[in-house]
Amino acid sequence: MSEPTKTQLVVIGGGPGGYAAAFFAADSGLSVTLVDMEPNPGGVCLYRGCIPSKALLHVAKVASEAKHASHWGLTYAEPKIELDKLRTFKDSVVGKLTGGLGQLSKQRKITYIQGKATFIDAKTLSIEAVTGGGASIKGTGKTQTLTFDNAIIATGSYPTKIPGLSLNSDRVMDSTGALDLPEIPGTLLVVGGGYIGLELGSVYAALGTKVTVVEMTDGLLPGADRDLVTYLARRLETTLHKILLKTRVTGMEEAKKGVKVLMEGEGLADADKAQVFDRVLVSIGRRPNSAVPGLDKTGVKVSDKGFIQVDAALRTATPNIFAIGDVVGEPMLAHKASHEARVAVEAIMGHKVAFEPQAIPAVVFTDPEVAWCGLTETEAKKQGRKVEIAKFPWAALGRALAIDRPDGMTKLVIDPETERILGVGMVGAGAGENIAEGVLAVEMAALATDLKLSIHPHPTMSETLMEAAEVFFGHSTHVYRPKKK
Ligand code: FAD
Repeated sequence: MSEPTKTQLVVIGGGPGGYAAAFFAADSGLSVTLVDMEPNPGGVCLYRGCIPSKALLHVAKVASEAKHASHWGLTYAEPKIELDKLRTFKDSVVGKLTGGLGQLSKQRKITYIQGKATFIDAKTLSIEAVTGGGASIKGTGKTQTLTFDNAIIATGSYPTKIPGLSLNSDRVMDSTGALDLPEIPGTLLVVGGGYIGLELGSVYAALGTKVTVVEMTDGLLPGADRDLVTYLARRLETTLHKILLKTRVTGMEEAKKGVKVLMEGEGLADADKAQVFDRVLVSIGRRPNSAVPGLDKTGVKVSDKGFIQVDAALRTATPNIFAIGDVVGEPMLAHKASHEARVAVEAIMGHKVAFEPQAIPAVVFTDPEVAWCGLTETEAKKQGRKVEIAKFPWAALGRALAIDRPDGMTKLVIDPETERILGVGMVGAGAGENIAEGVLAVEMAALATDLKLSIHPHPTMSETLMEAAEVFFGHSTHVYRPKKK
């Protein structure tokens, strides 16, 4: 083992939490070491999450628009899918972004170590150099010791397995396996109706697979307001083969040409109780990756659910160790991780800071997209909080009709006393882009009047926010909904 080196800050994990923290800390003048097992920063988000899934969803969108174009007198032939080219496109997007982060890291004079970090104590790490990338990452046995003033743990999360039902078969995939696009299976069962399952299920459906989704609860996207989900469910019923709600997978076994899946559910047809699928995608959630080797030697505390416990400044029970991103809690989203990163670095710099956002947006990049931020109607009900809801249907919007996508809605969750915007929900084509204005409205404590009086460009989907605010006052231009006296 070589002589220990010293750094002011070590960041363990190079995802959107870790690299944002490392970059901001280096820009703020700290000496920084960033450790991750991949050859470049990027984490789950860039290598096997947000980015590759969105590259594939873009292709799915083009395929579905081309198909739908026959309604407008534009008929294309059935697409010829070249999987190798599609994979190359997706991988090139990932390569460009992660390579770019590697460059940015060098420019900032960050010491990037491709390795696996193990805590020796609350001031020292042992790092084993690794080689390769993705599934081919291998330890080299060569270790170095690093002492640090402060550490930020940003080790992310990993896919949950179905308890007691693991089947060691290539045909059973998690999101990482599905993003590898091993083939276009004839049939695919997606276990879990959350956002990852629905996004990836939509990709495969657009490529021609017969996709069935099985979800344990009584609706897709648990957590999102039901009126938003209805629009998505309606469209998925036409693009997916089947959606089985209130249904559980109870067994999986290897069959001759696929995986035999046993299911139990309310009102499940006998034919659906045992079916063979070419492939199964298990996407039932993610677990925090808090099993960092040696963490028990640092005094850092972990909750029953496996999340590293932190205070509002993202500081763990050990004052010089911070944690951010998926490993500290929900929502497990890249932009939450990056914003926590800045707070943790500020705290290390001695500033008095807290991570207290009013609105962390969530976007489901299905077709249509579902997006929300701030207080949802469901949460308001749970809290017994009185709110007023103002909804604007996209069917009344020029732009939505012009692109033949009237299947959408924008809703505002408003405090009836102060008329403050507490939350925004949207479903429809491009909702994920437009929710950003909702985030600003909630964070800036905008009133319904502010949205109503801000001149929105015409014709755009953004007008739905303005019109929803007009609905609240009972004088929307494009829907007639007088205010109740
Ligand atoms: P991660 O990105 O998980 O990175 C953690 C890193 O730590 C990994 O690179 C890992 O190799 C490294 N690591 C772990 N242990 C060690 C160790 N001991 N030593 C060294 N390195 C270690 N979020 C969104 O906001 N929008 C989306 O559209 C979106 N889509 C997604 C789609 C899919 C299919 C998946 C799986 C996730 C998606 N997410 C999305 C979630 C998003 O990827 C995560 O919220 C985000 O990556 C969390 O960032 P993080 O920095 O906490 O950790």
